[in-house]
Amino acid sequence: MADQTRRERVLAFFLLPVIVVAVLVLAGVMFRSSFQLEKLREQSVVEATLLLANEKADRLDKNIIDQDNAVRSTVDVSDRSGFGSRWLETAAIQTPTVRAVLLIDLTAPRHDVVAIASRAPGPENERFRRLCVEFMLGEMKIDVPPYDQLRHLHTTYRGQSYLVSHWQTERHGRRYLTVVWHDVPRIVHDLFSTLYPDSAQSRVNVSDQDGRIVFGKSLARKGPVLGRQFETTLYKWSVNVSMASGEELAQAVQRRRVLEMVLVGLSSLVVIFGLIVIVVAAAQERRLANLKSDFVANVSHELKTPLSLVRMFSELLQSGRVESEEKRRQYLQIIVGESDRLASLIENVLDFAKVERGRQAYHFADGNLGEVVVRAVDVCRVRAEREGTELELDLAPGLPNVRLDERALEIAVINLIDNAMKYAPGRVSVAVVASSGTLEVRVTDRGPGIVPEDRKRIFERFVRGKPSEGKQVRGSGIGLALVKHIAEAHGGKAWVEPAVPKGSVFVLSVTR
Ligand code: ADP
Repeated sequence: MADQTRRERVLAFFLLPVIVVAVLVLAGVMFRSSFQLEKLREQSVVEATLLLANEKADRLDKNIIDQDNAVRSTVDVSDRSGFGSRWLETAAIQTPTVRAVLLIDLTAPRHDVVAIASRAPGPENERFRRLCVEFMLGEMKIDVPPYDQLRHLHTTYRGQSYLVSHWQTERHGRRYLTVVWHDVPRIVHDLFSTLYPDSAQSRVNVSDQDGRIVFGKSLARKGPVLGRQFETTLYKWSVNVSMASGEELAQAVQRRRVLEMVLVGLSSLVVIFGLIVIVVAAAQERRLANLKSDFVANVSHELKTPLSLVRMFSELLQSGRVESEEKRRQYLQIIVGESDRLASLIENVLDFAKVERGRQAYHFADGNLGEVVVRAVDVCRVRAEREGTELELDLAPGLPNVRLDERALEIAVINLIDNAMKYAPGRVSVAVVASSGTLEVRVTDRGPGIVPEDRKRIFERFVRGKPSEGKQVRGSGIGLALVKHIAEAHGGKAWVEPAVPKGSVFVLSVTR
């Protein structure tokens, strides 16, 4: 037992605080790492947005260059009259944003446009031709090698944006410049909307060199924005990607963090609660172990006392030294009485053992509670007379039959009468009354009564009440636990009430 107490002390004063501290440290570490993780996530949001912007810019460049290459593979510089005829056959499908293709002879002093192929012939072409020769050629850096390289010019003329792709070809000692005129409004209208479908959710837009939005909606309300210029084609413009998705992600992260913290808090509480339960269970287990060892001592004592009486009086009778008939009868009565006590005690212990192991099987049949109580009183009467206790019985008339286990109920009632005679000798009244839905056996004594704090406890197994006025009464602490079990098996209850003016009323009820 000392060992057990020491173990409990170690658990309560050392192990418990250590575990609680460990749980708190764990919670702290998890909180910190979730915080750091959030920062990392924020960083990756920026990186992801940047990646998205790059990808979107590259997508446009690739599309325009693919179209340029399609044009390049179909136009024939040596055939001026049929210069763009092959291109025009598939132009609408292969190169949807190309409006016209021009061929300029760079060897000629005035850089004449020697051929022009257009998807939409009209005065616009002539205007573009002039614009190209007079204005754009100067910006095209045509004298910078390598000449045959595909290049782009993104420029503004009279407030209008122009995109041309161009490359040079050497033929028969002359240098030709092929100029591909991309229709910028068409790029904005058709190409951007297919390339950037997420512009509808205000996640992407395109702005010009002055920050004016040329495609999509303002992203201002969507939080921080990352922009990237188109690298090759519309290089004066930028594609902008909002970090709104990043922000949404951050909110989700925050929500997750709160959830994680709640979970960590809850698990810590569960661990601490579990520890408390373990400590309480250990204390209860110890209390039960103590009660059990008391029980063993009490039962052995209870068995020993009547046995020694039986032995002593039998030996006296056997010796033949008891002369008076009166005395002999008295001794025999003691032997019978004590044997009865022994038998009922053993029966109690065996029944209780069955209850403990969940093996107690009740055999219910229609029976009369009044008759059961009469039999129980009869069993106790001999002892009552011997001990000078007045045993009264009062049965309510016309008690109905109920389903009951006669043997079990008889044991329960004997236990109650036995206790009354043990703890409150003098006068014991047994009554059976009918109340709403139940029948009650009431055993009333005029003894010391039960203090209020013990009234529930004494029905627990092995629990014995405080001895009153220092009187030590023998017992094992299982009688009332058995009574309670039997009452509950009959759908009833067992309890104790204070009697007036003094004493106790033990009640056992069964359902009707
Ligand atoms: P036991 O009598 O063997 O101790 P029980 O379970 O029958 O065990 O009773 C439990 C406790 O209830 C007793 O130890 C006693 O303190 C108290 N008790 C039972 N009946 C009475 C009674 N009629 N008057 C006073 N105390 C009682």
